[in-house]
Amino acid sequence: MKYISCSNIQNGLRFEYNCIKLCCFMGSNTPEPLFIKKDYYGEKLNWTELISNINKIRENAKRGIIDSHCSGCFALEEKDWDDNTKFKWIQIAHWSECNCNCTYCYRLASDFEKPKKRYKIMPIIKELDKMGLIDYSGELAYSGGEPASLREFDDITNFFIKKGEKNIMVHTNAIKPVKSVLNGLKTDTMSVTASVDCGDRQKFKQIKQVDAYNKVMDTLKKYVKAQGQNKKMVRSKYIIIPKVNDTVEDVNKWLDETQKVGIQQVIIDFEADWLERNKTNIPSYIDDLYDYIVSAVKQRGLDIQFYGVANQYRTLKGKDLEVGIGLHQGE
Ligand code: SF4
Ligand code: SF4
Repeated sequence: MKYISCSNIQNGLRFEYNCIKLCCFMGSNTPEPLFIKKDYYGEKLNWTELISNINKIRENAKRGIIDSHCSGCFALEEKDWDDNTKFKWIQIAHWSECNCNCTYCYRLASDFEKPKKRYKIMPIIKELDKMGLIDYSGELAYSGGEPASLREFDDITNFFIKKGEKNIMVHTNAIKPVKSVLNGLKTDTMSVTASVDCGDRQKFKQIKQVDAYNKVMDTLKKYVKAQGQNKKMVRSKYIIIPKVNDTVEDVNKWLDETQKVGIQQVIIDFEADWLERNKTNIPSYIDDLYDYIVSAVKQRGLDIQFYGVANQYRTLKGKDLEVGIGLHQGE
């Protein structure tokens, strides 16, 4: 049936350290996300009730009523949506521990509430699997804290690999190599994204507040080497941070170093708070820099993707959204 919806309304599920949502909420223009469950810290879930709530959102979409929390989201599209209601786009972000300290990290934001309690995701995943509610032909994406700081990471990853998950997307700071990532990359189903944001140790220290540039590049080299047939599964992300890494020289240095380690795909994003503050008045030099990055990346023969905030920028600027509509945020 043809109607306006988005893949996350249809089949999304995202676990955060204090709530459950359908997506990472990067595209809507409303102040509050679409919560499925607020104040969630691992308690036993009543899936019948939760799914019935999600179904109401889906049924409304079929009738042309989009939930107000999704208003203006670039991910909404009119197409023939199938009746599959299993969870196919699963995002795991239920932990915030990290061995890095990026200046743009959500954990440093004034409204960041320290998690009241840690919870384990494995029992929930197993329960969903037992109920036949997971469709493994979509994507499992990690975007919480750092995978190397999550004890359950290997268990979750190996579980999804065994189940034949089609795509596993890992966001990491790459300071420390992770065993199940090295193994997962061999399968051609796992991709790894690290926000490097620069091409030298000094700038890295300024952005990440840790002196770990060399370690990151060493890990990325290992990850590149571990790839199977598909050589585009390790990705370096550049978050444009105005006044910090906003020159053509900064970008060129990053691209040179990216290519030196053998990475063939890059991701562009913007510092989210900056774009929010400046969305009605983006300086022209930032527009020029964005255009430069896109053309330089293509000239070098690299693949490019855009993440949620970059897509917000592209929507604001009326640029087409054909190349990758990633919603993901974080590392
Ligand atoms: S906010 Fe956007 S991506 Fe998230 S569920 Fe709504 S329409 Fe989909
Ligand atoms: S690596 Fe990710 S979680 Fe860690 S500080 Fe940076 S943005 Fe935050």
